[in-house]
Amino acid sequence: MSILECNNLIAKYGDFQALFGIDFHLDEGETVAIIGSNGAGKSTFLKSITGLISVDTTSIKLNNKDIGGVEADEIAKLGISMVPEGRKLFPSLTVEENLLIGKESQREGKWTLEKIYEIFPILKERRLSPGTALSGGQQQMVAIGRGLMSNPKVLLCDEISLGLAPVIVKDIYAIFPEIKKEGISIVIVEQDINQALKVSDRVYCFQEGKVSLQGKPSDLTHDEISQAYFGV
Ligand code: ATP
Repeated sequence: MSILECNNLIAKYGDFQALFGIDFHLDEGETVAIIGSNGAGKSTFLKSITGLISVDTTSIKLNNKDIGGVEADEIAKLGISMVPEGRKLFPSLTVEENLLIGKESQREGKWTLEKIYEIFPILKERRLSPGTALSGGQQQMVAIGRGLMSNPKVLLCDEISLGLAPVIVKDIYAIFPEIKKEGISIVIVEQDINQALKVSDRVYCFQEGKVSLQGKPSDLTHDEISQAYFGV
């Protein structure tokens, strides 16, 4: 059953149209990757779901309930959590304080500070350090932890790998199967195709605001993905 569904989603910035009728679904417990080059519309898609951009009110459904037009903080309370591009931590707050911000829209569930520290032990060691004192990888862990603190049904992750060394990206991606095991449905927006495909059940490729390809990673060839990604 789909937990999140979009039909013919259209998004605009003023007169500029960024998304041209996206059909998308995320099943319960599924991990889906959205790949595509710069400007393909991936972030706009996530912003549309989280209420940061206004869209047609009938085009987005969470658990079959229309959520188009719902304010961003309400969306979080309904169970959609976003790990934003660029982490967006509060630099002067400690690791723990940054994590606790995710509690503001907390729903009932298993995710607590202790559980976040279990999956990211380094954050426990550094819990009193300010955000600015952390490495990029540690900051990304805090951003993911903060997203989990609200006990979401759906976790949306925007460009987790941006600016991180490959070995760090690999470590961070290793956590996704753990999160999936807890029953959370996950959307991973990525330019790092290989990492995203490794942990995903299905993939959508966006090109110029449209879905250019979708399927299970194992059913798609390298050439099909390149063509859908680059349009060549
Ligand atoms: P990236 O990986 O670079 O973030 P993306 O696939 O996430 O790319 P979007 O950021 O969604 O792409 O951008 C889609 C299109 O919308 C691009 O043409 C971009 O220039 C445009 N766009 C994004 N944000 C705005 C905005 N605030 N105002 C006007 N146009 C925007």
